[in-house]
Amino acid sequence: MRSIIVGNWKMNPTQKEVRPLAEGVAKGLSDQATFHDVVICPPFVFLSAVGEVCHGGTLQLGAQNVCSEPNGAYTGEISTEMLVDAGCEYVIIGHSERRQLMGESNSDVNLKMAACFKYGLCPIVCVGETLSERQDKKTLNVIRKQLQSLSGLKECSSNCIVAYEPIWAIGTGTVATPDQAQEVHHFIRSEWGSITGSHAVKEMRIIYGGSVKPGNIDEIMEMRDIDGVLVGGASLDVSDFLRIIHYKEKVNG
Ligand code: PEP
Repeated sequence: MRSIIVGNWKMNPTQKEVRPLAEGVAKGLSDQATFHDVVICPPFVFLSAVGEVCHGGTLQLGAQNVCSEPNGAYTGEISTEMLVDAGCEYVIIGHSERRQLMGESNSDVNLKMAACFKYGLCPIVCVGETLSERQDKKTLNVIRKQLQSLSGLKECSSNCIVAYEPIWAIGTGTVATPDQAQEVHHFIRSEWGSITGSHAVKEMRIIYGGSVKPGNIDEIMEMRDIDGVLVGGASLDVSDFLRIIHYKEKVNG
């Protein structure tokens, strides 16, 4: 299975920083071959600028959100069809910032996922627990509930990615230990396997997000059930992001 490294630029950078940043990453990819997928998810207004840099190269384009409705009177929203037309292959859905700050529910995420499948977009569905849920030892129950609310997981194991993003690790500088992340990833794989009732668990890509940096990427990617990373802050720095992309491969993997 191909690993995948996804950069989530969030509400950054400025217009004049977009091209140098995207071009820096694209150049780093052409200078040193990589055997995994590399995706940048810029804000909507920069999709076409980044899309021009990606065009024909190894770098792929994703978005940070999408509307579950196909078209119509939804002021301020962007549809899956629009994203596909803009050259996106992936879209992040259910990011904890959207769940916590914009009130997105499990059922909203489920609808967005269904809209992605209709247009062949690969959803990167985020799940994760808060610090108090972890301290109360509720992590696995929270994750199970989030996964069970995603009816789309039944249909798909290959064109869908689950991102485990412990909320206490996002943008905080506190990374989950490799063992903590591995435990949850292993759990997600087995839950996802029982939801689909299939043996396709090996095709399922489960990625980790939460303060991934050049200094911790190698040990994170060593973990058996970690198939890639979702990177926020460090994806805004060309050399940090390239170091993450060119992580040390698993010894057996
Ligand atoms: C994220 O944006 O999903 C994220 C994990 O951010 P950071 O890497 O900055 O913690």
